[in-house]
Order: sequence, then structure tokens, then C-alpha cells
Amino acid sequence: MLNKNKIMDCVILGSGPAGYTAAIYAARADLHPILFVGMQPGGQLTSTTKVDNYPGFSAGINGNELMENCKKQAERFNTIIIHKTITNVDFSDKKGGIHRVYMKNEENIESKGIIIATGSSPKFLGMDKEKKFLGLGVSFCATCDGFFHKEKDVAVIGGGDTALEEASYLSKICRNVYLVVRKNYFRASKALQDRISKINNVNIFFCSQITKIMGNDFLEGIQIFNTRNKISRTILISGLFIAIGHSPNTKLFKNKLNLDERGYIIVEKGSTRTNKPGIFAAGDVQDPTYRQAITSAGTGCMAALDLEKYLCLC
Ligand SMILES: Cc1cc2nc3c(=O)[nH]c(=O)nc-3n(C[C@H](O)[C@H](O)[C@H](O)COP(=O)(O)OP(=O)(O)OC[C@H]3O[C@@H](n4cnc5c(N)ncnc54)[C@H](O)[C@@H]3O)c2cc1C
Repeated sequence: MLNKNKIMDCVILGSGPAGYTAAIYAARADLHPILFVGMQPGGQLTSTTKVDNYPGFSAGINGNELMENCKKQAERFNTIIIHKTITNVDFSDKKGGIHRVYMKNEENIESKGIIIATGSSPKFLGMDKEKKFLGLGVSFCATCDGFFHKEKDVAVIGGGDTALEEASYLSKICRNVYLVVRKNYFRASKALQDRISKINNVNIFFCSQITKIMGNDFLEGIQIFNTRNKISRTILISGLFIAIGHSPNTKLFKNKLNLDERGYIIVEKGSTRTNKPGIFAAGDVQDPTYRQAITSAGTGCMAALDLEKYLCLC
């Protein structure tokens, strides 16, 4: 049971792999964690059908099932799980290292330690069928889903570093990779541009935008329009990888924690410590590079261990 007048040791924001892993470790260390689920219970993995690269599941596992298992495991060690979203935070260190998180209606909880695991959100194109085909051909992660398209044709949308990395990765697995770039140039680094230009099965369409996602029950193709010569063409593909960026869920922490220029929480190298004592960050919210379930779980574990050490030294 939650006692709102008690000062807690560990409050966790987020119910993705990072949040639940932090909860399992914190609970087993007797920190009596409280975990706020937020608006997406289970996090990003609940929007995918099959997770094939999480160790321990030799036949793969459904994203919802994996996160339900994580929840049950956290509950087994008496984590208090609250189905609410945090709307404000007070990380001022004036009150002897006591921080506050607020729910709607100014209801709040005080804690010596906070683990932020609010994740990130991939940017959508905003097109018809894009969400319907998520996990049915549409993907945000070549490392996660590329294997399902072995020796098939796929397209990548975007012209930045991520898009070129994804296209390069997919070129080794797939038959053809169509790289669809809105502008007539890449935003990616010169090194990546050089690498991509040397790959034979990557076909680049500059000045092109996607106008239609095709298919009935799953993705079958896309229509793209060349804004320079005004020609439309249909490309038959089994996979569409959208690589136009991610937004870390850090609006709440602006001017309260050090964030990088893209909004990711900055943590000390090799740890999950933020610039505020007692506040730790784990998972995608502090990771613009790897953004995987396993790396999120790994840093969730680190955050709980970092917090435990911090509380011992307080
Ligand atoms: C479609 C798709 C498929 C994917 N497939 C794979 C895969 O096969 N393998 C793989 O390794 N990775 C995959 N990923 C990436 C993986 O899902 C993420 O790297 C991982 O989920 C990040 O975990 P996280 O715990 O950091 O945050 P998230 O999973 O993003 O969860 C964030 C959590 O924070 C909560 N939250 C946000 N704001 C608040 C707030 N204010 N108060 C309280 N809670 C809040 C949300 O409700 C959510 O529960 C996929 C991603 C997507 C989108």
C-alpha cells in the first residue's frame, strides 16, 4: 500500500524495459520502489508483435507478453505500480535531497531517489496505414526487424545518420534497399554518405516523398513521388523502415536537468547519474545511440544499483 506521507527511497517513472528492470533490482534491494506506468503501459515494445532479439526467448516473444512478464516479475517483489502519469517534478536540492513528483491535481510523492525511464517516441510520417502496419511490415528499427525481410526488398525513409545506418545494415540482409530522401541531399555524415554510395544494392531516390502505403492486411508496397520531375512510382516491398528521428520524452525535465541539444538526458559516462544528486536516468531517454530493449533493461539495472549506492552514502 502506498503511504503518501512517507518519504520514499525509490520512485520510477516509466514502465518500459528500463523502468521494470530498475524496479526488479530496487525491490530486491529493499528500496520499496513505486513505479508510475505513464500513458503507454509496458512502453514501446507493446506496439510490436514479435521481439526476436531479446535473450532468453529462443522462439521470440510477443512484445506485450514480454512486458506483462516484466510487470509480474516486478510485482513479485512488491513493487507498487501506479497507473498514472507524472505531470511535474521538483528536483530542487534545497530540502536535503528530497525530490517530488506530481500527478494531476497536484497530488505528489516525495522521494530521495528518482529513476527516470520515460523512454522516447519514434517520429511517424503521419500517413494512412502507417500505424495499422506497425509490426506488419512497417518498422522503426532495422536491427530489430531487418531479419524478417531476409532476401526481400525493403525501403528506408530518411536522409540523416540513422537512415543511412539502417540502409547499410539492411543491405547485408535484404535483396534491395530503396532509400527515399525528401531533399536532394543527405543530412548524414560524409563518412556514412561515402559508405552508402559504395553499396550496390542500395538504390537512392532523392527529392522523393512517400505518398501512399499499400497493402490490405500487411505492407505490400509504397508509392513515391519525385518532387523534381513530378513522376510517381510504385515500389513493391515487404518492409518499410521509418528513420526520420526519435523524440526523447523529456519535456518535464527541461531546465531541471542537463539535456543535450536533441533533448536526451545527459548522464555521467559509464553510469546513470544525472547532474542532480539522487536523480538517475535509464533506457532510451538517455540513449540516442542504441535504443534497444536489452540496453534499456541494462541501464535500468544500473540505475537501481547506482541509486542503492547513493542512498548508502547519504
Ligand atoms: C515498433 C517498435 C518495435 C521495436 N522492436 C524492438 C525489438 O524487437 N527489439 C528491441 O530490442 N527493441 C525494439 N524496439 C525498441 C525498444 O522498444 C525500446 O528501445 C525500449 O522499449 C526502450 O525502453 P525504455 O524503458 O527506455 O522506454 P519505453 O519503452 O519507451 O517506455 C517508456 C515508458 O515511460 C512512460 N512514461 C513516459 N512519460 C511518462 C511520465 N510523464 N510519467 C510516467 N511515465 C511516463 C511510458 O508510459 C512508457 O511506459 C522497438 C521499438 C518500436 C517502437
